[in-house]
Amino acid sequence: MKFADLHLHTRHSDGTFTPEELVAYAAHHGLSAIALTDHDTVEGCAAAARACEAVGIQFITGTELTAEYEDTEVHLLGYFLDTVNERLLAEITKFQTVRQQRIYEMVARINEMGVPLQVESVFALANCQSPGRPHVARALVKAGLIRNLDEAFDRFLKKGRGAWVPKARMSALDSIELIHQAGGLAVMAHPGLNRTDEIIPGLVAAGLDGIECFHTKHSTAMSERYLMLADQHHLLVTGGSDCHGYSKAKPLIGTVKLPYEHVERLQAAVNARRAAATAATSVTV
Ligand code: AMP
Ligand code: ZN
Ligand code: FE
Ligand code: FE
Repeated sequence: MKFADLHLHTRHSDGTFTPEELVAYAAHHGLSAIALTDHDTVEGCAAAARACEAVGIQFITGTELTAEYEDTEVHLLGYFLDTVNERLLAEITKFQTVRQQRIYEMVARINEMGVPLQVESVFALANCQSPGRPHVARALVKAGLIRNLDEAFDRFLKKGRGAWVPKARMSALDSIELIHQAGGLAVMAHPGLNRTDEIIPGLVAAGLDGIECFHTKHSTAMSERYLMLADQHHLLVTGGSDCHGYSKAKPLIGTVKLPYEHVERLQAAVNARRAAATAATSVTV
């Protein structure tokens, strides 16, 4: 059997691996295909594609966007993206800027709470365009200001805690359209984590292409439920570990195994979409 892991993070957002290290793990686990889904960036894709090619693994470009639908937060995965698409790059650059500003705000609040974390230490540790809460947590641990990452989230960073700062969120409908115009497929990430099934029909009506049925934090029952919903709404099925490298525990890559037939279906869908777009252009020219 061939398997894929289509939800992976690297140092280009809040993972700890370089793209090359991630691909080495993918090869070690015998994966046939992987996708990179760093938050608000496609920067790691070129390096990951090169590393995958060298070891014979199929690579799918991707990103993970934070969106909202009627005040509900939803994470959208974009797959098979054109990584030089101008509009995509312009939009994600805006989100990266907001993420950088948010680091200053989170650190200022942590300082107000009496903990002398230096903002420079967070940026030095993150060393990427798309920093997030895990970088703040790691910098707190590294500076010896707290014991572990859980403490960082529990004391400061979880939603509702003193240093929690909301992220900029694009509307889900705009995110789906952004992904589509960059040649990609739009997939709802880890629906079981947010328990927001009621928004699925609205997303489907907006052009959602797929749903992440298999995820580290999905129970077997949850995966089955989302497979059923995928069938009901004619959605593609995806899955991945959401590996962030060495964070709290061992790397998760390879622990969620998406049967390869789903990758073939994704590929067929994207090919059909592109063929239709080409046909439409040649008719109008
Ligand atoms: P951000 O995009 O900056 O809001 O950070 C979100 C990331 O933080 C997620 O992708 C997780 O990797 C991580 N995260 C969120 N909540 C927790 C938590 N309670 N403990 C550890 N990591 C978390
Ligand atoms: Zn993350
Ligand atoms: Fe997510
Ligand atoms: Fe993720």
